[in-house]
Amino acid sequence: MSRALATVDLECVRHNVGALRQRLRRGCNLMAVVKANGYGHGEEPVARASLEAGATMLGVATVGEAARLREAGFACPVIVLGPLAGDEIGEAIAARAEVLIWTLPFLRTLMKAAHGKNAQLRCHIKVDTGMRRLGLYPRQLVEFLDLVEPAPELELAGVMTHFATADEEDDDFFRFQLHSFEDVAQTVLTTGYTPIFHAANSAATIRFPESHFNLVRCGIAIYGLSPFQTDAAADGLKPALSLTSYLADIKELAEGDSVGYGCTWTAPRRTTIGIIPIGYGDGFSRRLSNRGRVLAGGRSYPIVGRVSMDQITVDLGPAHNLRGGEEVVLIGRQGDESITVEEMAGLLDTINYEVTCNLSPRVERRYRG
Ligand SMILES: *Cc1c(COP(=O)(O)O)cnc(C)c1O
Repeated sequence: MSRALATVDLECVRHNVGALRQRLRRGCNLMAVVKANGYGHGEEPVARASLEAGATMLGVATVGEAARLREAGFACPVIVLGPLAGDEIGEAIAARAEVLIWTLPFLRTLMKAAHGKNAQLRCHIKVDTGMRRLGLYPRQLVEFLDLVEPAPELELAGVMTHFATADEEDDDFFRFQLHSFEDVAQTVLTTGYTPIFHAANSAATIRFPESHFNLVRCGIAIYGLSPFQTDAAADGLKPALSLTSYLADIKELAEGDSVGYGCTWTAPRRTTIGIIPIGYGDGFSRRLSNRGRVLAGGRSYPIVGRVSMDQITVDLGPAHNLRGGEEVVLIGRQGDESITVEEMAGLLDTINYEVTCNLSPRVERRYRG
């Protein structure tokens, strides 16, 4: 029995990448975003499965993540989607990573660092069309392109933006950003450059074909999770990750007995409690105390009492036919029942992204498919 096990079905990842690619026009490519340890799923196996299914590029957030992928033997283009500090540029060059440029000073730093390195650094200009995080304002673009031109050590590989609201019902702001990026693309093309243009995250890839340009950047959807926090199956996606543990003990409680730290739950009747050896030390949020549920023997049981660092307790009721050692599902399917990451995120007032990212290194990862 595994104490805390995340099983990732790579066949699901391949299915999801395939399903997303079917939405793309010919010639439009898919970048698999595997930052933050593949959204908690494990970066290497997910990256491999995505490439097998036709992704052409990997996206990460940090230079360390890019270097790790190179060390693991990935030869495909890898882009760092987050900012680089000046002292990280050398490592980016060594990892043959593609990088973003988002300010003039950074462009100058980059040119200095790349100078004489005998390596052409592929870079992508990030344009801020409304997110107000990294990125040049569109009006700064022309001046910027004039500076890139005489720099032989830099190759302008791409021009990109990022949407703030592709997953929101109201699409006004999305349309505003899209139109602004279309203008950007026009401007760039009139200067004679022909970089690739990319903008769409998972939500935009699924909802707005007109935002695909030459490349889409999909993270959450390749894991089979819904960018809209709804039913991933409705978008043809299959969740890849399940989280399981086991019943370490089953214990009889008398009416009035209380359970766990702080005695926050008291048995309203004679009952039995299941003790499960997983807790917030594994990234199973303490905010699920007295809230979440688990599956055992194909049925659902409520979490009662506090989630502690290494254990949780569930109310199995006065009559059940479960035995110690039996598997417990915290995320995933068992019999006809399932608990989705989206359900858990809803209880936690967050999004599915955070739930899987939070799974700690103490959770064993296993792969199948
Ligand atoms: C993380 C990230 C993505 C992926 O977003 P999803 O919503 O997970 O598809 C795309 N683009 C950029 C710039 C990112 O940082």
